[in-house]
Formats: sequence, C-alpha cells, structure tokens
Amino acid sequence: MSHEHHAVEHHVLNPATEEVIATVPATTAAEVDAAVVRAARAQQGWAAAAPADRARLLRRFAFVVDEHREELARLEVREAGHTLGNARWEAGNVRDLLDFAAGGVERLSGRQIPVAGGLDITLLEPLGVIGVIAPWNFPMPIAAWGAAPALAAGNAVLLKPAETTPLTALRLAELALEAGLPEHLFQVLPGAGAVAGNALVEHPGVAKIVFTGSTGVGRQIMAKCATRVKRVTLELGGKSPNIVFADSDLEAAAAATPMSFLDNSGQDCCARTRVLVERGVYDRFLELLTPGIESVVVGDPSDEATQMGPLISAAQLERVRSYVPDGLKGIRGSAPEGRGFWFPPTVLTDIAADAPAATEEVFGPVAVVLPFEDEADAIRLANATEYGLSGSIWTRDVGRAIRVSRAVAAGNLSVNSHSSVRYWTPFGGYKQSGLGRELGPDALAAFTETKNVFISTEA
Ligand code: NAD
Repeated sequence: MSHEHHAVEHHVLNPATEEVIATVPATTAAEVDAAVVRAARAQQGWAAAAPADRARLLRRFAFVVDEHREELARLEVREAGHTLGNARWEAGNVRDLLDFAAGGVERLSGRQIPVAGGLDITLLEPLGVIGVIAPWNFPMPIAAWGAAPALAAGNAVLLKPAETTPLTALRLAELALEAGLPEHLFQVLPGAGAVAGNALVEHPGVAKIVFTGSTGVGRQIMAKCATRVKRVTLELGGKSPNIVFADSDLEAAAAATPMSFLDNSGQDCCARTRVLVERGVYDRFLELLTPGIESVVVGDPSDEATQMGPLISAAQLERVRSYVPDGLKGIRGSAPEGRGFWFPPTVLTDIAADAPAATEEVFGPVAVVLPFEDEADAIRLANATEYGLSGSIWTRDVGRAIRVSRAVAAGNLSVNSHSSVRYWTPFGGYKQSGLGRELGPDALAAFTETKNVFISTEA
C-alpha cells in the first residue's frame, strides 16, 4: 500500500543544461494525511473570517508575488526552460489571478428566490480542503488557476506540483506566509503523482480534486473520485485546429502560425498543432510559413531574444522524436546541439489525417498541415479528434467566423487570433479535453456547494 512508501528525493534539472539545480523531498502518503488534518483546521478559521479580511490577505499575497516577480520568473526559467518573457508573464499572471480572486470574495453572493409561505435563499458554502494537482508545462499559472479561486471561496488548498517543477510552487507557499495567510491554509506537497498525488485523490478529507495533466491520468483520477463522488475538475490534453480559409488575410495567418504551436516549445495544451488550410491557398500558405518557421530563435531561455527553449526532460524529448521519423516531408527550424533537451520547430506536410502525429498530442514543437476542400470539410476535420480544447479560425467573412465557431466542439476558440487564456474569461475542454471550467467570472463558484434554505413564515 502507498503508506509504506519511504521518503525519497527528486532531483530538479535545468532542462537547458541538464544540471541538477535542487533536490526536493518527496511527500509520503502519511505526510499527506497529516497535511490534510492541518489544512482542515486552518480552513475552518479561514471560512469564518470576515470576507473583507480574506480579500485583503489575498490582495497582499498578490502584492508580495508582484514584488518577487523577477525572482519567480528566473526560477521558472531554470526549472522549466521557459523563455524569460514567458516566465515574467507567468509570474504576473499569478499576481493577477490572486487579485481577481480577491475581488470575488465579497461578491460571492447567493440568491433569494420567490416562494409562497416563506423565504428561500441559497448559501454558497466552501467545500473544505481542495487538492490541486498541477503539471510541469505551466507550473505557476496552473497552480494559481486552482489555488486562487479556491482560497477566495473559503477553502484550504493542498498543491501537488509536477515532479520536474516543484520550485516555484514551494516559493509561492513561502510568499503566502510572508503575506500573512494563515499557516497550513496553502501547503505545497512535492512528490510523485502515484504517491502524493494519489493520496490526495483517495483521501476522504479532500473534498475536490483540480487536476491538470494528461488525459490518461485524468481518466484514472476521475474513476477514483467516483468511488466517493468526490468533486473533480479536469483540464486535459488537446490537439487543436488552426483553420485557415482562403478568404483570410493569408499573410497574417501564416505569420501567426509558428508561435501558435511553438510557444513553450509546444508544451501547451492549447497548441494549434493541426493546421488546416483550404486547398486553393495551401501551397501559397506553406511558402509564407516556411521563413517564419526557419527563423524562430531557439536557444538559451534566459536570453531575452530567445523565442523557444528546450523541452522539459529527456523522456519528453524521446516522446517527441518518436512522432517525427527521419525522411518525413516538411519544414524544419534549427535547435542547439549538445546538452539540454532540444528539438527543432517542425512542420509535417504530406501526412495522413489519421497518422499518430496528426491525431495524438505530441506536446512538443511539432505541427501537421492538412488541406481541406470547403467549410463543411474544415469543420469535419476540426472535429475529427477525441479532444476539444482550443482552436483558431482565420477568415474575413464574419458569418463564416460565427458559423464555424458554433460548429467546432471546443471550449476556447479565437477568430483571427490564437489567444486562449485570460484569467477573467472561462477556460476548459469539450469531449476528452476535460470536465468543468476554470478562470472567468464563475471561477469561485466551482469551489462552493450550493445549499438551498427555505424558511417558513407560517409557523
Ligand atoms: P501527467 O498527467 O503525467 O501529470 C500531471 C500531474 O499529475 C503531475 O503533478 C503528476 O505528478 C500527477 N500525477 C501523475 N500520476 C498521478 C496519479 N496516478 N494520481 C495523481 N496524480 C498523478 O501530465 P504532465 O506530463 O505533467 O503534463 C502534460 C499533460 O498535461 C499534457 O497532456 C497536456 O495537454 C496536459 N495539460 C492540460 C492543460 C489544460 O488546461 N487542459 C494544461 C496543461 C497541461
């Protein structure tokens, strides 16, 4: 049983150099048990505190994060290989998420519903202790997507970061204390998914799991949560389409395509990795795309000019390589040689629509380009996937933009743009890309239970 696991340590590597930059203890299942007890106690006081006091403490947490933005960004560069520009944005995103959630504390209102013979009101009660299980691809923002609204709604949070990227999460827990958040309210439990993560999933004292990661692990977690009807939010994989119609601004569409799947080295669940191009402009589009791919600056992520850094690990590099056998036709960019987990920007053409690289989530800097015949064919191809996270539609025809937005089964679409994520708009997946929504105006409500109370005026 998992209780028998002994304390082990995880080495954290810099993926650009393969140097060990830290060693972090792995939380055991028994340590998770103890953390749940402490969190439950802290949560009671937190939920009972005046809303304005909770809001003020979360704003102070946001302020302290902002003061440490550069430090957090540099840490993210070192442990995750993110480019400095991205990492700075990510640390700022944590600040913004906390601020946004703080603004929701006093606005988390129930309803008064008209009834005969009494008064009917709804109470939005915190769930208790929330387990947030985060992936390595956006360690800081995704941790905060769960933690910030959960705390704001009156819950305690136990955060299990990914094995490869625990350092920013651990630092955020220190900053929370520095900001004055109650002890044990926000604890970070680094360690193995199968041990610390699983202990959160199975623990009867954890009311909800917020999981971001692979669809395979998400399925297992959902099945385990089912045994207790434990609440669960899942943000899983994607294979998002980038649909380019002949009537679009083709230069703009081609110019935006490289970073739509190369940002974060393609380790982005929203990466637009299936480029669908109307047949009449297919050749022209590839002509325009080629210099854009070849000129992407890949290298040292701490250099301000770098656009793309390494992959997270040797295992991820192996996985990405397996999708790109030698001799496939396409466009290749460049990447450094030597130490570090490097893979060049890669676009595969002349590939079957049902080939693994065209249907599975590669989670690396690899996209496929497929031609389509007309609007109906574009929609058919866009939806020919078990995923439904994001997608882009490039057209100048407003009616078509609206029709295709309605027809594509995905949670986050953008027209003439590739943006997916804003902390104040909802985010989540259709089909096997997930369950539930995060961010947006309803973020706090996902961490409450609605209780309806009828009070008779007849007695
Ligand atoms: P992963 O599923 O292997 O791991 C994610 C987290 O779950 C890690 O913290 C891991 O330790 C933990 N975990 C692993 N096994 C577990 C278990 N049995 N019980 C409990 N916890 C367990 O995924 P990853 O490799 O870290 O991340 C990459 C994946 O995440 C990609 O497939 C990507 O699409 C997905 N992702 C999705 C979103 C989204 O919002 N939809 C965002 C980022 C990443």
